[in-house]
Amino acid sequence: MPEIGPPLTPHATRLVLLGSGELGREVAIEAMRLGCEVVAVDRYPGAPAMQVAHRFHTCLMTDPDRLRIMLEQELAIPHDRLLVVPELEAIATPVLESLEADGMHVVPTARAARLTMDREGIRRLAAEELGLPTSPYRFCDSQDEVNGAVAELGVPCVVKPVMSSSGKGQSVVREPGGGPAAWDYAQRGGRVGEGRVIVEGFVEFDYEITLLTVRHAGGTTFCAPIGHVQEDGDYRESWQPHPMSDAALAAAKDVAGRITEALGGYGLFGVELFIRGDEVLFSEVSPRPHDTGMVTMATQRASEFALHVRAILGLPIPEGDDGFVPLTAPGASAVLLADANGDTPMVEGLEAALAVDPTVDVRIFGKPDARPGRRMGVALATGADAEAARAVAREAASKLSVR
Ligand code: AMP
Repeated sequence: MPEIGPPLTPHATRLVLLGSGELGREVAIEAMRLGCEVVAVDRYPGAPAMQVAHRFHTCLMTDPDRLRIMLEQELAIPHDRLLVVPELEAIATPVLESLEADGMHVVPTARAARLTMDREGIRRLAAEELGLPTSPYRFCDSQDEVNGAVAELGVPCVVKPVMSSSGKGQSVVREPGGGPAAWDYAQRGGRVGEGRVIVEGFVEFDYEITLLTVRHAGGTTFCAPIGHVQEDGDYRESWQPHPMSDAALAAAKDVAGRITEALGGYGLFGVELFIRGDEVLFSEVSPRPHDTGMVTMATQRASEFALHVRAILGLPIPEGDDGFVPLTAPGASAVLLADANGDTPMVEGLEAALAVDPTVDVRIFGKPDARPGRRMGVALATGADAEAARAVAREAASKLSVR
């Protein structure tokens, strides 16, 4: 059991959040509730977590020199305990690995941050080292290789930059001749511009879930499965619990337990799985809270953010008789997206959204500017079952808009 000293003193437990989006903001709030000092880092000022942190740095974390200088500065300010908590993939992870070798604590581990920063590291670990079931896939470095992979895997298939998230640069090839267009689209949409892509066979899943998996001092604990809807590779709605057969749930726990064990460390992981009958295919994992898991702010006494902070501080995780984190009620989330570029985005419709139902809750992320498709807020609701909650959350979100 760690001792927690006052923030902004040499006895502080300091969390340095690498990434200050809406998920980081909730991690910051939960960490502060437990008395931690929070330093928020992102590439632009005014990011959501910066607005609630004790201090912040504006730093391009893909630049190894700048990242190292910033972290060394934080390590030099006296503290009892420093935890580096990545909130996004786009980080110069070799810097984390080298500072970890010198004793800096990275959550869950620097290796996990490296393996999950691109689709190749994690796919090879899951499919080739652990033998977990995944979609068939090929890595390709040219348009010709993509054409070959499309011919081998057949259509439909999905082409994604290995360095991308949230559907950026991702497209579905539906015709045998669709390889070149998908390659071009991926080259424009990747995080670092041009580069390698993964071509995946299209999985005709019945549904997809996120299985939030907490590795903590007392073992591994799961949250009830979260169902979600994705459009253009990005999440629109999520709900919890998603009904599953006993066999599929057991297989999902097995897959999530194995991939998170291989990544190691303490913290919450978002394991994305495709379910087809009783069969479970591994898709992706984030070694940190997951956007679809925002629903847990409505459904669990300890949200995914609270669980992450507890786990990384070595604190106990609540577990019910069924081995899952207890749900207080079924619930749902529905996102608010901007549809245009704007410097001072104004969110409208809060009164109407909150009037939809007494269970509705809204989070506005306070992002300083908008662009089409940028997530600006989320509506949360609970209900008698997840379907009822979904309808309420969707209606509440529909009342919100960004001007
Ligand atoms: P990802 O960025 O890999 O999480 O992909 C975003 C979403 O695209 C997933 O949540 C799925 O809905 C869909 N998707 C990605 N890969 C596949 C696949 N191989 N087969 C079918 N759907 C996929």
